[in-house]
Amino acid sequence: MPEPKKFFVTTPLYRVNHRPHIDHAYTTLAADVLARHLRARGTEVFFQTGTGGHGADVARTAAARGSAPKDWADGISADFERAWKLLNVNYDRFTRTTGPDHERGVQDAFERMLASGDIYPGSYSGYYCASCDDFYGETELPEGGLCPVHRKKAEAVSEDTYFFRLSKYQKPLLEHYAAHPGFLAPKHRAAEIIDLVRSGLRDIPVSRAGAAWGVPVRSDLKHTVQAWFDALLGYLTGAGWQADRETAEFRSLWPADVHLAGKEFFRAHAVAWPAMLMALGLPLPGKVYAHGRWTIEGDETAGQGDAAVSPAEAIKEYGTDALRYFLFREVPFGQDGVFSTEALRQRYDSDLADGLGGLFSRVIELTGRYLDSKLPDKPEEESARTFARLRALDADIALDIEELRFSSALDRIRDAVEELNSGIDSRKPGELARTDPAALEAFLKDMVWCLRLIAGWIYPFMPDTSARMQMGMGGTRGGVEPQRAAPLFPRKP
Ligand SMILES: [Zn+2]
Repeated sequence: MPEPKKFFVTTPLYRVNHRPHIDHAYTTLAADVLARHLRARGTEVFFQTGTGGHGADVARTAAARGSAPKDWADGISADFERAWKLLNVNYDRFTRTTGPDHERGVQDAFERMLASGDIYPGSYSGYYCASCDDFYGETELPEGGLCPVHRKKAEAVSEDTYFFRLSKYQKPLLEHYAAHPGFLAPKHRAAEIIDLVRSGLRDIPVSRAGAAWGVPVRSDLKHTVQAWFDALLGYLTGAGWQADRETAEFRSLWPADVHLAGKEFFRAHAVAWPAMLMALGLPLPGKVYAHGRWTIEGDETAGQGDAAVSPAEAIKEYGTDALRYFLFREVPFGQDGVFSTEALRQRYDSDLADGLGGLFSRVIELTGRYLDSKLPDKPEEESARTFARLRALDADIALDIEELRFSSALDRIRDAVEELNSGIDSRKPGELARTDPAALEAFLKDMVWCLRLIAGWIYPFMPDTSARMQMGMGGTRGGVEPQRAAPLFPRKP
């Protein structure tokens, strides 16, 4: 029996010319939320992230700091792994493009495309941005030859290169988009890709002559494979792809279900990447999703440059879960956001310290006082009325997460928390204890079950908080004493 197909979700293999910043964190956390959600509901998931260590820009950055490029790539890759640990990211594989298996896979793929005519030698005249480590045609540089990403002057170049025959895939790509309306996501970014492909595709340079830091083209060692082309192939090599045989691992993973990436990588993922897969005769991923970017308040470029804010500062003050919550609650996933500590503080105070944290403390305190400290081990039909109603939201929340509408899922959860908090206010438990103790008991048992439901809902977003809530309520065993616990989100002075 072949292994059943796993749900395969990826982030880009991040270039090591920057330390991890908020946009890297955003992509990676989104993959983590989706992976945790699916795993918790019994789906087998494989979640890959990693780093792309090659490229002339990496070599330059390393040289400027007096490092060998491989040492530099090792150091930044370790920074990424540390950041993901700090953010409680539970990935299955951290793929690095500087590993020997990956390099061999890139060489194999390149030679195969060369043999099929999908890659061919030629020479390129145009522009090159060193920071992008990529080529631009004259028409792609509108503002006096400035790179659209870096706003720096691109240099005019004329050099030998191998081209990928992207033009050949114009029609197959358009057919694929039309036949798979969910492939390009979110919808509002799909139109620009379809227009771009309709307007005609030119063949693109995928190697550089004389750039030493990269994967050498096996049949022409003067050339190294362009870093972005190399990094995209990491989706295959990370999944165990081999050119000459189909491995069991690859069969259990491919095609990827969703590639997540920032919007600046959308063209590469929506156009070049599926064309590369077609050239290799491999199935296309289910979805490529381009999310928005964060700008740091008061600094339009901070997310993209060396000055980028690291997530560590926010975590120190508010904790990992609060940051995870904020990023997905503040802005719909496909749109751009502005990061400010003031906005984070507001979400923390209202949604977490007062909202969820307040609800949890109240219920634990009330059950300790009035329920004889015994929590119910199963919902009782006649008393679990609110629970029954909230449980009906479960399918909506699951669908929101599966379709990457994270803010919508969190809106529903926050509304439920608000409803429960005002429910406690209006039932006046202190009074009820004197007038109708049986009704109070039923009400509190209902609240406990609602809290367990909410602990499950928040798990993908705030895994630690979810675990603390479960623990405070005796896990799923029930019938045990509630734990006197520290507040989930201590109020800040
Ligand atoms: Zn650039």
